[in-house]
Amino acid sequence: MSRRPLLDLDLPQLEASLAAWGEPSYRARQIWHAVYQRGVVDPAALTELPLALRQALDEAFTFRALTTVAHKTSEDGRTTKWLLGRSDEAARIESVLMKYDRRRTACISTQAGCGMGCSFCATGQMGFVRNLSAGEIVEQVLRLGQEQSLTNIVLMGMGEPFHNYDASLAAVDRLTDPDGMRFGARRITISTVGLAPQIRRFAGEHRQVNLAVSLHAATDSLRDQLVPINQRYPLETLRQACLEYLETTHRRLTFEWALIEGVNDGSDQAQALARWVRGMLCHVNLIPLNPTRGYAGRATETQRAEAFRSVLTAQRIPNTLRVRRGIDIQAGCGQLATEAAITNAPADAGNPLDVIPRAAPTEAPINPAGTPSRPRNL
Ligand code: SAH
Ligand code: SF4
Repeated sequence: MSRRPLLDLDLPQLEASLAAWGEPSYRARQIWHAVYQRGVVDPAALTELPLALRQALDEAFTFRALTTVAHKTSEDGRTTKWLLGRSDEAARIESVLMKYDRRRTACISTQAGCGMGCSFCATGQMGFVRNLSAGEIVEQVLRLGQEQSLTNIVLMGMGEPFHNYDASLAAVDRLTDPDGMRFGARRITISTVGLAPQIRRFAGEHRQVNLAVSLHAATDSLRDQLVPINQRYPLETLRQACLEYLETTHRRLTFEWALIEGVNDGSDQAQALARWVRGMLCHVNLIPLNPTRGYAGRATETQRAEAFRSVLTAQRIPNTLRVRRGIDIQAGCGQLATEAAITNAPADAGNPLDVIPRAAPTEAPINPAGTPSRPRNL
């Protein structure tokens, strides 16, 4: 019988598994504390348990579902990126650890690939591969937390968290569990492409977690092109969902805006954005585009970015112009896995990314890069 990933169980499920072996429920709590508070990865280290129980655990469960396929640190040493995968499949998952200012932020994935098809995004160019389980989402945090104690967690890696809603929320609950990892909900941010029904649903969950919405354009004609899900949830629908979120939660929303030269960085878009967010408790994050293989757009130069920003500032809209980080290690969303897929593809033997080992012959590329997919049915 194949072993179950332990991290996919919640505490009542673990208690039920142990009860079936005739073990008292306090044993489940001992294991829970060891895994989530001490970061134990091997049942042999659970010396507080009887040997027979350690052996039973070892036979029934895996403590880690993912292995490291590759990792790389940026030249300034502040950004490290891991490419993780299960040994029985080719799908790849990215996790990034960023050390800036006094923050140590884990950027984690919720899906392998993504079905939303945003044209400028490396993950979108890859297409949807599969949803991650709650355990796989949590495991990324446990792994990064082994390297460095974390101050912040962002669900901003590969995938659309609200397209894998239940697992993403279960992972957040696991991370904030007072009996488990005890991570502060206010230091967790979920980023969504703008799935309006799920924004409404999330508002009603009353979690203390922050929400970021990836806007990138403030007119439907442009957003339809950059973020195809806008065709289903156009800007006015999205705005209504955001207003409902604000009214229910009273929590500040963040809007993400990747500045793309000559595409969405003109004063017309800045003015439209200012109109769109008027009256909202929000912060706008402006981020120069990270270049990707499948999209010809370029990052806005600093002077033009400052001009865009000044339109918002003049209208008292809180904003930040971010610097691009980890660019030398393809730390943009989905970029390392895309590079890996390309590197693994026999047709592209000359890819320069040295960190990615060539895949074993059985490992096919996830999906040819540069083939944007349409949004899947939700
Ligand atoms: N699917 C979610 C979360 C993952 S993407 C979302 O779209 O919000 C995380 C962030 O990276 C999003 O704001 C996304 O728009 C942004 N992003 C994706 N590709 C990018 C690129 N090439 N340059 C800059 N930002 C990018
Ligand atoms: Fe998916 Fe987010 Fe990338 Fe869009 S930006 S394709 S939603 S991961």
